Amino acid sequence: MQRDEQIFELIQAEKERQLHGIELIASENFVSPQVMEAAGSVLTNKYAEGYPGKRYYGGCEVVDEVEQIAIDRAKTLFGAEYVNVQPHSGSQANTAVYHACLKPGDKILGFDLSHGGHLTHGSPVNFSGKLYNPVFYGVEQETGVLNYDKIQEIATKEQPKLIIAGASAYSRDIDFKRFREIADSVGAILLADISHPAGLIAKGILNDPLPHCHVVTTTTHKTLRGPRGGMIMMGKDFDNPFGIQLKNGSLRKMSSLLDSAVFPGNQGGPLEHIIAAKAIAFGEALTDEFLHYQLQVKKNASAMADALVAKGYNIISGGTDNHCMLIDLRNKNLSGKDAEQALVKADITVNKNMVPFDDKSPFVTSGIRLGAAAVTTRGLKEADMITIVDLIDEVVANFEDEAKLDAVKDKVNAMMKDKPLFV
Ligand code: PLP
Repeated sequence: MQRDEQIFELIQAEKERQLHGIELIASENFVSPQVMEAAGSVLTNKYAEGYPGKRYYGGCEVVDEVEQIAIDRAKTLFGAEYVNVQPHSGSQANTAVYHACLKPGDKILGFDLSHGGHLTHGSPVNFSGKLYNPVFYGVEQETGVLNYDKIQEIATKEQPKLIIAGASAYSRDIDFKRFREIADSVGAILLADISHPAGLIAKGILNDPLPHCHVVTTTTHKTLRGPRGGMIMMGKDFDNPFGIQLKNGSLRKMSSLLDSAVFPGNQGGPLEHIIAAKAIAFGEALTDEFLHYQLQVKKNASAMADALVAKGYNIISGGTDNHCMLIDLRNKNLSGKDAEQALVKADITVNKNMVPFDDKSPFVTSGIRLGAAAVTTRGLKEADMITIVDLIDEVVANFEDEAKLDAVKDKVNAMMKDKPLFV
């Protein structure tokens, strides 16, 4: 068969783009060569509906072992009692949890999308806002941080069936213990969505949700640095209390509800090549090297935030505890869209993002979101973050000047030259 040069040339072009640029999208990272190799392996050929030892297809002996290793490594990494590694994405992990815990029309309390939450936390354009009845909490206008007393007030008034703790653009640590007290006070199930800070949480750098939350979901491709995908976890003691009473009086455990919500409830065959890549990424995450990586991510994000504040940028909440930050650009007189487009011309990739109490549409926005996970994988350190902020500032100050943007692009390309994607 003829090689499909059209697509391979595009893959090469994307590789060049990644190599030459500065990647600051907070949800992106660069996987190791062995994670990449597993993702492109023969396991993509295998159907394996079901779970290890209980499949609907023959020939699953090998993938059973692969999937069990992924589960066991994730359990060790997060101190979890139950893990499902099959969700194809973070959204599908959340879909499965809602499917297991809720009925259509049930009330859910989530982090407002425009304040940093995710689409799947009840946004009206997403299934979570159409199928369920969403209410929201957000950050304080003056401080940009969560006010747990206010979240308690909203929960008491609204009596949600499920509360989601977690965000896509919140730079502060989350108090899961306090969230559990709030959930208990109204008899709600507490879901932590740690998609963004999962790598930092795995290494004990941020608060651990597993001892407090009934269910925890995550993506595997952000700070966790695995292949694109999702995962569901539970800590100890959370299996029985939230089981469902069957007609014969026995209790259907939460773990079995979650498993059947993923398959057959919400997905067909698992992506065993991706599950193998997840297993490798979890193995990498169990090492001390990964701890050093996460510590450097945090140091780099802090250095970036400090340098931005020193240049008069308004970071929501004033700084960061994790890998990311949200910048309100209104005092710089350009929109998030303008900034994203100008930065891309200079080979610096970021995404426009709504900021709390934004007066612009989601297509324009007043802000951008930055993260340090990907640049840290490429080996960059605190001093490089200061250089990056200088480059961003040059772009922001000259966002309509093509010649100046070209000059910044040359500096970016020179800086990233000879730096592999994964150090
Ligand atoms: N949850 C949170 C908090 C996220 O930030 C994201 C992705 O950005 C998701 C869920 C969804 O993940 P995916 O894009 O894999 O569906």
